[in-house]
Amino acid sequence: MTPQGAAVRAERATATEARDPMALRIGGVTPFSTTDWPGRLAAVLFLQGCPWRCGYCHNPHLQPATGPVARDYASTLAWLEGRRGLLDAVVFSGGEPTAQAALGSAMREVADRGFAVGLHTGGAYPRRLDEVIDDADWIGLDVKAPASGYSAVTGIAGSAAAAGASLRLVVASGVDYEVRTTVHPDLVPDDALVRLADELASLGVRRWVLQPFRPTGCADEALIAASPCGTRIADDLVARLRERVPGVDVRD
Ligand code: SF4
Repeated sequence: MTPQGAAVRAERATATEARDPMALRIGGVTPFSTTDWPGRLAAVLFLQGCPWRCGYCHNPHLQPATGPVARDYASTLAWLEGRRGLLDAVVFSGGEPTAQAALGSAMREVADRGFAVGLHTGGAYPRRLDEVIDDADWIGLDVKAPASGYSAVTGIAGSAAAAGASLRLVVASGVDYEVRTTVHPDLVPDDALVRLADELASLGVRRWVLQPFRPTGCADEALIAASPCGTRIADDLVARLRERVPGVDVRD
């Protein structure tokens, strides 16, 4: 075999290994949740790794791709076997779950065991999202800001393009979904929320959940100082947003 052939074979072997569901890196587990997929009783698997650096992140320990593994996937599947009939669903969350090549095969393993499959994503990897989207029964998609304000939230240039591509994929997929936005007055002020409403409306988004910023668990002192008691979203602003996207809810 030529050196180039050997390199291609090695690369394929590495890719195959990465897609092995047992390679999934799980940084934390919530055994029972009624809030991560509204209307479902779900276990939540928090996957390790996220390329973005949002100041309000409540899971900064999940940002490094190679953080400590809380639970290996084999033992997680065995644990899920014992939850059949007690849980409706498993939600893959993060971190950014689409950062991991093993996500799709892990989602299918869970579906094969009879659980509905939910996915939380910020859309940082639209190509991976495209690969796995048909394996999801529901998607909670974080849309952080209008396109012009994206990098101010994520800290990463180019994040708006990835998030926009993911949003268009989700809307076109036919998979049940909700769009969610964390509202902090410095990051997404009222005029930015109205611009975002216009962007979502132009794509046909009909369900949009606003999550007021909460200082608990936030490590960014400037964000806390700007909203020390948490964000209150005014009723008249919600009414203006509903004129654009009918299904706006505030989730406290
Ligand atoms: S995208 Fe989510 S996990 Fe990643 S830094 Fe932002 S809030 Fe944290």
